[in-house]
Amino acid sequence: MANQLLTDRTALVTGASRGIGRAVAVALADAGAEVVVNYARSPEAAAEVVAAIEEGGGRAYALQADVSKEAEADGLIKAALERSGSLDVLVNNAGIIRDGLLMRMKTADWQAVMDLNLSGVFYCTRAAARPMLKQKRGRIVNITSVVGLMGNPGQANYAAAKAGVVGLTRTSAKELASRGITVNAVAPGFIATDMTKGLENDALLKAIPMGCLGQPEHVAGAVRFLTADPAAAYITGQVLQVDGGIY
Ligand code: NAP
Repeated sequence: MANQLLTDRTALVTGASRGIGRAVAVALADAGAEVVVNYARSPEAAAEVVAAIEEGGGRAYALQADVSKEAEADGLIKAALERSGSLDVLVNNAGIIRDGLLMRMKTADWQAVMDLNLSGVFYCTRAAARPMLKQKRGRIVNITSVVGLMGNPGQANYAAAKAGVVGLTRTSAKELASRGITVNAVAPGFIATDMTKGLENDALLKAIPMGCLGQPEHVAGAVRFLTADPAAAYITGQVLQVDGGIY
């Protein structure tokens, strides 16, 4: 166990059953937080994350919710508050891709990505901000992407949603700062998860100055810094890239 800076704190990570969210959940539990492991469709995977955290001496429980739906996102925050008594850290991580070139992109694919990757972040942030405002303390991290900063052919929906998350981050940071709440974004480059399976090729590796994909733990380290480390207390409204130098 590393420094337990989040002891007596509760952290909710959306989309924590796999990939980056899983690594973030483990890292925040390691920092002492009780972690709410949100998932949408993978109860077994979420239960495995909870078990892994408990085996490491940490505290966690799983809550199902599709955070692209306003009522479910509200219900998730409410359920976490009821069970844990407070909500101190929110990591908006859940995300999907529905790739396609602009001219062929189906409206349903545009909308599905907007609903989760942008609106989901808004729903959870709005719901979590209420208790954080009351307790005059909170840390919110939104997982955006370098794609939202640099664009990427085939990902108009994803890039637009992730760029939207940057605007949402900077604005909520300004609105919430006076009440002791920081809001930052972490922008991963290409990270080895289910989302990027089969994507690794020579051209991509050449474009990454570090020459390899990142690991979920690289992203989790940045989230841990922004949420658990007192050294980050005066940092808000920022976008921290974890991208091996690609952008
Ligand atoms: P992943 O391996 O595909 O995992 C996605 C996670 O999101 C799963 O836990 C999944 O839960 C959950 N999820 C999906 N739909 C959901 C919904 N409607 N409500 C709640 N949870 C939902 O993805 P990842 O690569 O770890 O990506 C995590 C985040 O990082 C995303 O926001 C992604 O855009 C961002 N990102 C990833 C990369 C990369 O290279 N991998 C780069 C930049 C940014 P279930 O298992 O229950 O479906």
